[in-house]
Amino acid sequence: MTRPAEILDRTDQRKKHVPILKNFIGGASVAARTADSLPVTNPSTGEEIAVVPLAAAADVDAAVRTAHAAFGAWSATPIKERAQVFYRYKSLMERDARQLAALVHEENGKVMSEAAAQAEKAIEVTEFACSMPQLAAGEILEVSRGVECRVDRYPLGVVASITPFNFPNMVPNWTIPNALVLGNTMVLKPSEQVPLSSMRIADLLKEAGLPDGVFNVVHGSQAVVEAICDHPGIEAVTFVGSTRVAKIVYARATSRFKRALCLGGAKNHLIVLPDANEEMTASNVAASMSGCAGQRCMAASAMVAVGEVDNIIKRLCEEARKIIPGKNLGAVISKQAKERIERYITEAERDGAKVLVDGRNAIVPGMEGGYYVGPTVVDFVRPEMKIAQEEVFGPVLAIIRAKTVDDAIRIENSSPYGNAASVFTQSGGMARYVIERVSAGMIGVNIGVPVPREPFSFGGWNDSKFGACDITGKSSIDFFTKLKKTTTKWNPESQANWMS
Ligand code: NAD
Repeated sequence: MTRPAEILDRTDQRKKHVPILKNFIGGASVAARTADSLPVTNPSTGEEIAVVPLAAAADVDAAVRTAHAAFGAWSATPIKERAQVFYRYKSLMERDARQLAALVHEENGKVMSEAAAQAEKAIEVTEFACSMPQLAAGEILEVSRGVECRVDRYPLGVVASITPFNFPNMVPNWTIPNALVLGNTMVLKPSEQVPLSSMRIADLLKEAGLPDGVFNVVHGSQAVVEAICDHPGIEAVTFVGSTRVAKIVYARATSRFKRALCLGGAKNHLIVLPDANEEMTASNVAASMSGCAGQRCMAASAMVAVGEVDNIIKRLCEEARKIIPGKNLGAVISKQAKERIERYITEAERDGAKVLVDGRNAIVPGMEGGYYVGPTVVDFVRPEMKIAQEEVFGPVLAIIRAKTVDDAIRIENSSPYGNAASVFTQSGGMARYVIERVSAGMIGVNIGVPVPREPFSFGGWNDSKFGACDITGKSSIDFFTKLKKTTTKWNPESQANWMS
């Protein structure tokens, strides 16, 4: 069928303005060796903003060979010089903070203040990476008279970083500065849903003076991830995403004898005790469940209400109603995500839960094509319901009632996840009791989003993380380096002992 001339023109014009992304290999944009691609949409409007190639194993191989070639000179560059590149990178991120945030807003749907906050976190990680010369220094000790032992850290080689859609700038920057300052080279595989920020990161690293080939980007989805896991030239893989894929990547990468650290999904429980401060608890819980449209692995997903806390729930609902889609609440990533989130609410309601604040069918005037879900509070959720057990990944809070703090801890402990948990109380003793018993890697006391700030490291427990070490902070130094132990004796008068 011939299309009317007007539609043809509009389509062709649109195509002209929608950039087709390329991989970034060896310091240059390189077309992917594939005809497969996907549209990238702006979740706030539903409009197509770019086309991302779904690269093939050959593209991964080209990137790994380039990163391998760059490794020799980069790893031989003194760490203090490597850190200088990241001082400049930090300044460039600060210079371009607004544009970086605008790009995240465009491809991910976060509101500008949230997009700016995640860029701030990327800057903080980079700041930390600049202190690697102090933190990653080796150790030396005279272990017997005239005999010394020294331990030096060595980079691993080419490492791969596979990232999710929810923090297009921050999560890649969890690994880039630390891994590279420590002397590794990298292949980044960003989420195909938000590939634009990684290209800006590549540009800024180049402008900061990072040698070509040290940092590379290959776009795509499952096939690229599988090629990364299988490639013999890659020494280590970090992954951040859902638990289902984290398990696949961890199993596949380690079966190829790679070091792997795979962060998965979450179901974070906020335990609210009757003595909790009403105002502070309500505003913290509301911000935690709705911030970034609930699409963060640290979001409050379940609130375990212990005893009589109806005053706090009432206040929480008031706070939730102040959160307006399109104003202080961003879009969720896709139409499918919106449908999935709304399905959880509808099923919970059908199974007897009570929807106190209902965010279904949210429409933002002027942005009718956007994928919005309003803040939603669902009370009287039973622990066996799907909304209580699975990661919803939307601005939805399930309230589960518990009679005692031990019941609340049992509910938290029964989750297979273990990213974060929080307790709201004014009793230090009670807080300590809960901290010691919840099964999660990051704990908050009267804090809704207990993200550890640098130099502390980020990482959960249980099905929220597979592999040793955490992904940021001091723990990442162990992941991204290997230790060489050298024992030295120069003088004949050195003490002889059992190992001489
Ligand atoms: P996802 O698991 O769907 O995708 C993550 C990455 O894996 C993407 O780059 C994607 O292309 C790739 N991928 C997808 N399916 C694959 C497959 N079958 N085989 C190989 N690779 C595949 O995750 P997402 O939807 O992009 O992100 C949301 C998830 O990430 C949530 O579960 C969230 O909790 C989690 N997350 C966790 C943390 C954390 O620190 N634990 C941080 C951010 C996000």
